[in-house]
Amino acid sequence: MSQAAKDAILDYCLGKGALVAGVADLDRINEIAPEGHRPADLMPRVKSVISLGVGGQTQGAWSVPAKAMAYFGSTETRAYGIAYGLAFMIEGRYRARSIYCPPDLDNEEGPRVPLQSLKLHAELAGLGARSLAGDILLHPDFGYMYYASVFTELALPADAPLAENPCPAPSCVALYRQQGVTPCMKYCPAQCLSGEIDDDGKQAEMRYEMWKCAELSEQYEALPRMLADAMAAEDADGRADVLEDPDQSMLWYKMSVGSGGLLAQCFECMRVCPVATQAPLADPIRRAEAKATGE
Ligand code: SF4
Ligand code: SF4
Repeated sequence: MSQAAKDAILDYCLGKGALVAGVADLDRINEIAPEGHRPADLMPRVKSVISLGVGGQTQGAWSVPAKAMAYFGSTETRAYGIAYGLAFMIEGRYRARSIYCPPDLDNEEGPRVPLQSLKLHAELAGLGARSLAGDILLHPDFGYMYYASVFTELALPADAPLAENPCPAPSCVALYRQQGVTPCMKYCPAQCLSGEIDDDGKQAEMRYEMWKCAELSEQYEALPRMLADAMAAEDADGRADVLEDPDQSMLWYKMSVGSGGLLAQCFECMRVCPVATQAPLADPIRRAEAKATGE
């Protein structure tokens, strides 16, 4: 296993705009991911899973009115672009077959089941830890990110998961002690988050009633339903009425900015999260300063 190759691969990711990159332990993925969703189910001779993360939002974007957040697009496609380039880079430089891991959903098991868990890859590669906000990964320095994965037949040394979970933040623990809820639990409009924090201020239990979140904020089925309605319309005017309905225009916008993330959550839990909104190195200027001073 080549540490030099790994260093070059991670440098490539950071050079292309990733905030973090790492290698997940393949044996651990295979222990946790169910059959049919393991890396070898997609790439039979896979030896390494590389994960990378890009910044989710600027700090300013978290403060805009809730309705405006949908217009801010998302950066997840940047993560996919870096991963796509990385697969070619590994093949070109190391002559090892590689693939960009598709983030899309599994058509056989329905629109809410991912083919592969990019979250699991990122967690095991040490790029984020599971939060009380429905297991959204958070990083102590970079906060909320979008992730992409590359599978390769090149053997690389694996990284370890984060040793410390930044969630709950001290201010969240203080609120929990006073009111029995953390900010994400308190302000989730679907009230689908609950959990417990132990005496040491660590997560004891996280509960996420996913169906409530899905009912309020997820729109995976909305576009196919709209297209089915358009196809069932009796004439061209009826089709135009469906497709150009102002109430549906947001969906077209979300698709045009290439965002699955905007179809998947309302962001209220993250808008009040101190780790997501005040991540020290999510700000590129502070990151450049920290790099220059070697912090
Ligand atoms: S995305 Fe919205 S509904 Fe879902 S957990 Fe977060 S705040 Fe609640
Ligand atoms: S607001 Fe953020 S840091 Fe606080 S408990 Fe929720 S997810 Fe964790």
